[in-house]
Amino acid sequence: MYYPWHASLWQKLIAQCASLPHALLLTGEAGIGKYAFALYLSQYLLCESIEKQEAPCEQCAACRWFIEGNHPDFQMLSIAALEEQEEPEARKHSTQWITVDAIRALGNFVYTGAHRRGRRVIMVYPAEALNLAAANALLKMLEEPPADVLFILVSHHWQRLLPTIKSRCRRFALSLPHPDVALDWLATQNIPNARTQLFHVGGAPLRAIAAQTASIQLDELLYGLAHPREFEVAKLAATLEKQKASAVEVIECLQKWVMDCILYAQTGNIHYYPDFETAIAQYQHITAWDFYDVLINARKQAQHPLNQRLFFEKLFYGWMDVLRQSAI
Ligand SMILES: [Zn+2]
Repeated sequence: MYYPWHASLWQKLIAQCASLPHALLLTGEAGIGKYAFALYLSQYLLCESIEKQEAPCEQCAACRWFIEGNHPDFQMLSIAALEEQEEPEARKHSTQWITVDAIRALGNFVYTGAHRRGRRVIMVYPAEALNLAAANALLKMLEEPPADVLFILVSHHWQRLLPTIKSRCRRFALSLPHPDVALDWLATQNIPNARTQLFHVGGAPLRAIAAQTASIQLDELLYGLAHPREFEVAKLAATLEKQKASAVEVIECLQKWVMDCILYAQTGNIHYYPDFETAIAQYQHITAWDFYDVLINARKQAQHPLNQRLFFEKLFYGWMDVLRQSAI
């Protein structure tokens, strides 16, 4: 399946499926459903039903193989640890790459005929996980594409790809849904407090779901930041410690909060936490940048804080200090 906010792109692509170029590059932010879209498109292109219209038939032998994960004319190049929902930040720390060996192993698949006498489809997810040698090896295939082979590259950060790779692909941008559309969909997923989560992750619905499972007490934290006189710092810090909350996630939340204060002061807009506009409006005159520097420093120690509870307390009191200095 693809997500409802990508319906018009889906129609556009399948309308031209007989004349698609040999390499597509599907781009967009992490957590909007690019993986699902690319996978469904692969299934659609391999579906052998002559009656299929806007969706794969789900009944033919090809669809059944595809769903079971063993269609002989489909190859997926991916890195196991990465899911679409994952924070893009994690990429920076990931040492996993799609290697040149994986591309070489693809050679047999690419240069021998299709098992079903139709198309062969290769999905690369995400394309920025190709290391340099792998990207160059893939480039050779893209430069001399065998007939009936379609490459679908998916990328969260397509600007990072080699220019030569980009120029060999036709790019289709998958968009972030409008917040109303995303919230309608999240409502069907039984996500409590979906609105706060959605804005917290910058609008990508699948990341909002992933953030649900993260351990930070987002509501309590935001409420405390917005109502400093009621902020039970020690209690929240103890809860976060007990839950083994990620210090990085807590810092990210504080950074977003500060960014909202700064943005509001400059433009009157709020990006992450619009539900807290009243509080953020009060804070537009504070010296928020100072706190931002504190957070950047804290982030350096965030992987291994010696004492988590104290680490969190210090962060939250840091915010109180900023307010105190600004006499709010
Ligand atoms: Zn089918």
